[in-house]
This record gives sequence, C-alpha cells and structure tokens, in this order.
Amino acid sequence: MNDLNRVINPATEEVIAEIPMADTAVAEAAVEKSVIAQREWIRMSLSARRDALRAIAGTVRDHVEELALLECRDVGKPIAEARGEIGGVAECFEYYAGVVDKILGDTIPVEGGVDMTFREPLGVVAVIAPWNFPLPIASWNIAPALAAGNSVVVKPAELTPLSTIRFGELVAALDLPENLVQVVTGPGRVVGAVLTSHPSVAKISFTGSTETGQAVMRSAAGTMKRLTLELGGKSANIVFADADLSRAIKAAPGSVFGNTGQDCCARSRILVERKVLDDFVAGFIEQTQAMTIGDPESESTHLGPLVSAAHRETVSSFLTDDVDAVLAGNAPDGPGFWMAPRVVVAPDPGSRIVRDEIFGPIAAIIPFDSEEEAVRMANDTIYGLSGSIWTSDVGRALRVARAVETGTVSVNSNSSVRIQTPFGGFKQSGFGRELGLAAIEGYTELKNVFISTAE
Ligand code: NDP
Repeated sequence: MNDLNRVINPATEEVIAEIPMADTAVAEAAVEKSVIAQREWIRMSLSARRDALRAIAGTVRDHVEELALLECRDVGKPIAEARGEIGGVAECFEYYAGVVDKILGDTIPVEGGVDMTFREPLGVVAVIAPWNFPLPIASWNIAPALAAGNSVVVKPAELTPLSTIRFGELVAALDLPENLVQVVTGPGRVVGAVLTSHPSVAKISFTGSTETGQAVMRSAAGTMKRLTLELGGKSANIVFADADLSRAIKAAPGSVFGNTGQDCCARSRILVERKVLDDFVAGFIEQTQAMTIGDPESESTHLGPLVSAAHRETVSSFLTDDVDAVLAGNAPDGPGFWMAPRVVVAPDPGSRIVRDEIFGPIAAIIPFDSEEEAVRMANDTIYGLSGSIWTSDVGRALRVARAVETGTVSVNSNSSVRIQTPFGGFKQSGFGRELGLAAIEGYTELKNVFISTAE
C-alpha cells in the first residue's frame, strides 16, 4: 500500500475517510489468495455454499442502515433510495443462494453413447465496479460468481469505495473460506490494470464508461479473459399520444433525474408524439420542479448532488450558450456539487445533448410524428441499454419493444432492473448479462462429456 485516497462527501465537500490505495504487489497478492480460496470454495458441498450466500444476505440485512448511510454520504444518494438499494443487495444474495443447486446441464442425443454438459466455474472473477451504484452493481456480479463456484476480487471506484469496503469486512467475519471475497481499493490504472492482465484472473465483470470498457477489453485480450461489460447508455423514453399521459408524466422525471441523472439506464432522450408534446412538457417540468433537491440524509430528499466537482464540470459542459435549457428546480448553494435539473425541448438532433451520455440532470424532449420515426430516433445511437414505451395499444407496445435495439425495455413503466431478469446492453452498451439465471452463463464454462456405451 502507498498513497491514501481522500473520500469526499459530495453534499458537504468534507473528507469523510482516507483509504489506503493498493499498489501492483497488493493487487497481485489478492489474485494469488483468490486462487487458493476458490479451490476451497468449490470443494464445499452445495448446501454449504447455498448457506454461505444466505449468510452474506443476512449480514447485509443486519447492516442495512449502516451500509445505506455510507452509500448516502459517499455518493450523495438520498438515504431512502440508498436503503432500498442495500435491501436489493441482500435480495440479490438470497436469489443466488437459491441458484447454487440449480445450475443445470443437458443430456444430448448422440450415436454410440451418452452425452452431457456441465457448467464449470471459471476460477477467479474480478469485479470492477462503478461509483454510481457501488454496492448494488458489485453484488449483481459477486453473487452469481460465487453461486457458480468462483472466488471474487472486487475493485470499487476510488470515488465511492466505502460501502464495498464495509461489505468486505462483514463477509470476512463470516465462516467462509478465507479471501473468498476480497476488496482491493486503488485506482483503475493500477489495480484495474493488474486485474485485467493477471493470468490467474479468468473473468472481468466491468461496469463503467464505454471508453474504459474498451481499455479493459484490450488489456484482457492478452490472456483471453471472459468479459461482462455493462457500459454507457442513452436510453429513450417513448411516449405515444394514446398513452395514459398522466402516468407517463409522473414516471418520466424519476427515470432521467433519479440518482441525479448518474444512471446508465437514465431515459435522457424523451421522445414524445407531437400531438401531446405541449401537455407533456408542461407536466414534466411541473413534476420535476416538485422534486426536493438537498441534504441526502433527509428522508424527503429526491435528488442529491453530483458525485464530484470534476463530474459537475463535465455535466455542465453540455450547457453551452446555444442550448436553450429550462431550469426545473432549485439546487442549494455550495458547499456541495449541486446541479438543478434542466430540460431542453426539441434540441438539434446532432447536438451533444442528444447524442452523448450526459450522466447528469439534463433531459432532452424530442417530438416525433409516427411510430416508425420514433423507432428510428430511438435506435439512432451507439448505445442500447434500456428504455421505455408508453402506449395503451398492446400491439404497438410489442412491435416497438421488439424493434428498439436495447437489452431491456419496459412498457408503461420505467423499471430497468429486476434481480430475476437479465440485464445488459446491445451495441456499445456492452455485452454479457447480469442478473437472473442468464448471468450464470457468464460465470461458467460449458463442458461437454461423452461416455461411450459400446460393449
Ligand atoms: P470509468 O469507466 O473510468 O470507471 C469505472 C471503473 O473502472 C472504476 O472502478 C475505475 O476505477 C475503473 N477503471 C478506470 N480505468 C481503468 C482501467 N484502465 N482498467 C480497469 N479499470 C479501470 O468511469 P468514470 O468514473 O471515469 O466515469 C466517466 C463516465 O463513465 C461517466 O460520466 C459516465 O458517463 C460513465 N459511467 C457509466 C457507468 C455505468 O453505470 N454504465 C458507471 C460509471 C460511469 P477508478 O475510478 O477507481 O480509477
């Protein structure tokens, strides 16, 4: 270990922790220890491994308030949301505890014998986590990796490592193989570089920007690592004139401004059928103005600050003089990295606001005239992570849901993530699937065994 990372509360700008940063030797040692832990883990019985995942869920549940407060202070996330998200972490481990003894193979009809498949664990899995949903996204990868018989090294983002560090301590206190889940703190360019190139790491589960995802792929290519990449997004929220407009309006602000817009699933392009554009815009701005921006530790807060001064600068760079943005709320003055929501109606289709992932509280509302045009606009992006469709026509809902190029679509809802269902991207939003039974494919190798029945 060498330097210390000063962790800052983005709502107050106070230093709330100083965290040792691992160097290359520490990261390499963690991988070596993980190799040994995995051998022990896979020798344990199915029921013992199931119980271990249940125990992890249990300790998270016992510490929901503590973990939620860490997440709240570290990310600037409203406490009520943080509590819900940590509850989701416990649920994720409970779900995958139930999966441990349901990882199935096939028997395949062949000539001259019996053929069967097994799903074998990969070995050491490295989870490189983002700063926006630190422990939830880490858990979406840790839990299925463990359920499939792997050990895990987790690297949280430097900006928001606290909940993951505490989680690591809680897991280490359980009666599990030593070093089964290790948390290694440090910068991506050091720890990330070791994890993505070390020959004993079999798989990388990375969540973050598309650019860093590309760097991870390049580094992982040398040792042919398996990859799950969950990257950026620029999701569309498509509102047809035949929708229940009041429901669509009520849901829309949360789906783009939730987590202060720092959400890979943010529906930051709101495509609205021109016939209802004026009503939608008026309602959307009114609903947005009703959101409380302020102290994340208050139970009534909807929006906290952005995660860092640097990130606020990046988000603010989208608000150039030629952008006609409506200010839809009042953010507190400093200290804190505050930014009130902005709404831009009918921006230039080629502008950065329409094309780039902003990861902040800026929404573009874009009119369309036909279903065909809505689908074309929704797909006119390098990304393909999530999205919503609002309509009362079930045929249209299914046509559009099939036509949009995204990994997840919800109809008359703004949900993207459920523990039981697969989550991941099309196009440059990444590949591989987190969550649900589908995630298990990404944490196992498919082995085929043939047994001759010849006499
Ligand atoms: P990054 O993609 O750079 O960071 C994500 C994670 O990758 C962090 O843990 C980071 O570590 C790590 N990392 C950084 N460089 C490397 C590397 N060379 N090898 C391995 N791991 C590495 O995101 P940023 O924090 O820079 O955010 C930039 C933008 O990315 C955001 O504005 C947003 O658009 C997008 N983003 C998308 C997310 C999503 O959920 N899909 C989540 C976060 C960001 P560390 O930060 O500690 O150096």
